[in-house]
Amino acid sequence: MSETNNPLLSKNELPLFTQLKPEQIEPAIDSILSENRKTIEKLLSENKEYTWNNLVYPIEIIQANLNDVWAIVSHLESVKNTPEWHKAYEITLPKISEYYTELAQNEKLYQAFLKVRQGAGFKKLNFAEQKIIDNNIRDFKLAGVALPPEKRAEVKALSMQLSELESQFQQNVLQATQGWSLHITDVDKLKGLPDRALEASRLQAKEQEKEGWALTLDYPSYHAVLTYADDRGIRETVYQAFTTRASNLFPGKEKFDNSQTMVKIMKLRQRLASLLDFNHYAEYALANRMLKSPEQVLHFLNDLSDRCQDVAGKEANNLKTFAKEQCQIADLRPWDVAYVSEKMLHANYAISQETLRQYFPEDSVLNGLFTIVNRLYGISINEVKQFDKWHESVRLFEIYDANNHLRGKFYLDPYARPDKRGGAWVVPAKVRVKQLDGNIQAPVTYVVTNFSKPLAGGPALLTHDEVTTLFHEFGHCLHATLSKVDYPSIAGINGVYWDAVELPSQLMENWCWEEEALKLFAKHHETNEPLPHDLFLKLKASKNFQVSLGLIRQLEFALFDFNLHMHPAEENDAYIQTVLDKVREQTAFLPLADFNRSQNSFLHIFSGGYSAGYYSYLWSEVMSADAFQAFKSQNKVFDNEIAARFLYNILEQGGSKDFMDLFVAFRGREPEVNALLKQYELVQ
Ligand SMILES: [Zn+2]
Repeated sequence: MSETNNPLLSKNELPLFTQLKPEQIEPAIDSILSENRKTIEKLLSENKEYTWNNLVYPIEIIQANLNDVWAIVSHLESVKNTPEWHKAYEITLPKISEYYTELAQNEKLYQAFLKVRQGAGFKKLNFAEQKIIDNNIRDFKLAGVALPPEKRAEVKALSMQLSELESQFQQNVLQATQGWSLHITDVDKLKGLPDRALEASRLQAKEQEKEGWALTLDYPSYHAVLTYADDRGIRETVYQAFTTRASNLFPGKEKFDNSQTMVKIMKLRQRLASLLDFNHYAEYALANRMLKSPEQVLHFLNDLSDRCQDVAGKEANNLKTFAKEQCQIADLRPWDVAYVSEKMLHANYAISQETLRQYFPEDSVLNGLFTIVNRLYGISINEVKQFDKWHESVRLFEIYDANNHLRGKFYLDPYARPDKRGGAWVVPAKVRVKQLDGNIQAPVTYVVTNFSKPLAGGPALLTHDEVTTLFHEFGHCLHATLSKVDYPSIAGINGVYWDAVELPSQLMENWCWEEEALKLFAKHHETNEPLPHDLFLKLKASKNFQVSLGLIRQLEFALFDFNLHMHPAEENDAYIQTVLDKVREQTAFLPLADFNRSQNSFLHIFSGGYSAGYYSYLWSEVMSADAFQAFKSQNKVFDNEIAARFLYNILEQGGSKDFMDLFVAFRGREPEVNALLKQYELVQ
């Protein structure tokens, strides 16, 4: 196969998904990797003195070329997980890992960067260019390049093994999720399920060529059953399957058990940290974060936990009382929690996601979102109709700024599919980069969600939760797209600390709770009637329903993650459970099931970038609450002066400065934890 005909290597502005075949991935990646290796060798050997222009910048460019191609491959692996695509991904992943580890461990390159850092030209560079050089030197050190050769080789081997194990962990979860479904022939067993969920499960059964209904572990199906199914036994069965995925207790034919994978991952991570002279992996992870020490993180989490205890206790008791008095459930079990909560929410606020859904047809929500960001940042968004896509439901949009300059494009892949990973996320497809000829490559972004697909003849109707998810992901998309930084390693969301990257996304969620904003798009899909004021008031009142229990749940994940990464690795997986049990002493306000092994499917910390970083969600929430209070305190949720400050100091800056400095530039001071408690009305 000729390389020039490989659609992955085409210089097209947008990827040619329909022309791409799985077998083209490996040769394309091989070709770029070999080209990049040659270029780096050449840059190192040709130059006597190293500078920004003859070393750092050209490397930024070739890295961007590789990233653009690899983004397509890993994207398809997430949204089109057929055996062929997965195999192609699995073959190339180790090559990519090897390349990055090799690059990070290239001692000659490290020495060359040190020379640029020490050179007379360094002071003349702008702060973004200086930051890139400092980031590189930091990363070289974290990759062990300053270590003796033996230890350095071990760091390299560890990194490669880790990336394979993390991918294995994710595959086990995905396959367990896909490998289980519950076939129902008696519709009475599904009483309580909303019509839409019922219809979706009928279609699911049809897809499996069965009569009746099929319940799966895809999140929309799982969520609907746990929240609405009156049949307690069905709820228990689905809950048990979901929370034991990828464990030895999973009821599927194959277990896809992650227990040993977790042990191995933890062992390698702790070894890696100790090789690099850190006390543990948690300390190692913080070398690249906004919060700088383990004490700072634990203090933040424990302080927040202390402040939530009383209210969480009260909320849990209210739920148990309600279960007993109104639902005839005397012994509240984990699979009753969402169900009873929904009933309680409905009784207290007479509101259900199903009612609200009628007011959130997909297109109206999208237009509303676009109007809001237009009023805030002056940007306009147009849909592109003709383009090459990986699935028929995918859409493409362009973002123009107030001066009518194209700032970037984004794909939206809205609906859940069997071959698509669950959840919602944003990944840069192409990062903004100033090419060597001075031309700017505009960024392109993938926005992926897993909403229920529209039923025949109607529009997709989103729950308010889904609307919030869409706003959240769009916040990431703006961060990735509105960047004005010209260098890919620190443009958009690249190079932004993990514990800061959720600020733009969580900030966007706030507009889903403001009547002035909802008026723009919450309209009944049949009558076009706007969301009634009393329904809005109930929605607003429901926002803080069980808020402490929600925070405590997040704190449980965050404390488990952080404490686990401070703990010495052990041979047996039992210690992982022990760390979790210890955390639960301060977080278990609701009943637990002995069989629950949700740690075995905890993708964020065992296969995502959130290891020793789950606290970031809460930390970003503190920042976003604090940022939104800048708008609220002026009583102007569309204040474009404050928005302009956010755009200029945060969205456009990417990772070009330490994030604390960016936040202070926007807000005039560091984030205050109290802002979060205030937002949730836990303090006045
Ligand atoms: Zn996010």
